[in-house]
Amino acid sequence: MTVPGDTAWIVNRAKSLGFDLCGVVRADKFPELQHTPDWLARGYGGEMKYLFDPRRGDPRTAMPGVRSIIVCLLNYNTSHPLSTDAILSGPDDEPRGWVSRYAWGDDYHDVLSKKLDALAEVLRERFPEPFQARTYVDTGPVQERVLAKYAGLGWLGKNTLLLNQTLGSFFFLGVILMTLDLEPTLGAGELPPPDLCGSCRRCLDACPTQAFVEPYVMDAQKCISYLTIELRGAIPEQYREPMGKHVFGCDICQDVCPWNHRAPVSTVSQFQPRVFSLLEKNASGASPRSPEDSLFFPRLEGFLELGETDFRELFRGSPVKRAKWRGLLRNACIALGNSRFTRGSAVHARICDSLKRLAASSELIIAESAQWALSRIQ
Ligand code: SF4
Ligand code: SF4
Repeated sequence: MTVPGDTAWIVNRAKSLGFDLCGVVRADKFPELQHTPDWLARGYGGEMKYLFDPRRGDPRTAMPGVRSIIVCLLNYNTSHPLSTDAILSGPDDEPRGWVSRYAWGDDYHDVLSKKLDALAEVLRERFPEPFQARTYVDTGPVQERVLAKYAGLGWLGKNTLLLNQTLGSFFFLGVILMTLDLEPTLGAGELPPPDLCGSCRRCLDACPTQAFVEPYVMDAQKCISYLTIELRGAIPEQYREPMGKHVFGCDICQDVCPWNHRAPVSTVSQFQPRVFSLLEKNASGASPRSPEDSLFFPRLEGFLELGETDFRELFRGSPVKRAKWRGLLRNACIALGNSRFTRGSAVHARICDSLKRLAASSELIIAESAQWALSRIQ
């Protein structure tokens, strides 16, 4: 057992490395983890095979000899508008698509992993006895948000995310599994922060695909984040229109949450929206660069011209690469099919041309999505 005061020291070091919050929890089979098999048996996990790893149900099995887990939280909120802001719902002179706020900047796995590795390094100086430490950012067989709750960092909201009274929910979580027996943040008999959702149900009512089976339970198969990022096949017909303009993830159940309306803005420069310019075709067949755009509500037209190599180049070191090239084009087609064009405009004509080209693609999912879009906007 480490001495009292060690945990306060760890929290301070985590904050000096840039984390907003940090807590320590004993590896234990917390009550929420016991619901996972039933949730999976209902099919709510869709095609996400990694969710079936039985170690996710008990952190004591996630690493040999694990005793304590350090949970670190990093705010990614920027000052840009929310997807639900009226300012973004005007006419589609230049149709745009929504990329989830967490994916605007550099890949959070890289940003957090570097900070967690640095923290693990200073722990070796503080604790000279031999110990094992393993860092995970969404990559390990653990359910970070449950561990975060019991590390005293917040409560699990009706939208199933970890909510913090000060920071809301726009943050990433990373963990260090340790064989050291650290003093937990919550003392014996101390409870995690209370659930402050109260009678609110804004997230449940705002979800466009009705992905919440009941408060605190989501059917991920219906969630736009799953459909646009994880699903490799065609988007099921019934979710296409509700998907609206989402091309990578969805923030609606966070954007409507009152706890995010007073959340502070992150100072981490890597989370600011990436700026890019795409190759465009023009009437003379040349390929000039498009005007600069950013991943904050980008114009969709350029995505239709994106080749697989361009995709890899553009999204190197970005979370968007997870959707794969086919997925992003599929999503862009669906979002265009949901856009409200001024028929007969130059943009409308160009986009219809691009969609016709994609509708003849040998990539069947892209072709079918482009045909669907054309059937709605032509
Ligand atoms: S992310 Fe969007 S689709 Fe998914 S549950 Fe939240 S509001 Fe619904
Ligand atoms: S929107 Fe309301 S019910 Fe949903 S997570 Fe936020 S506070 Fe809880």
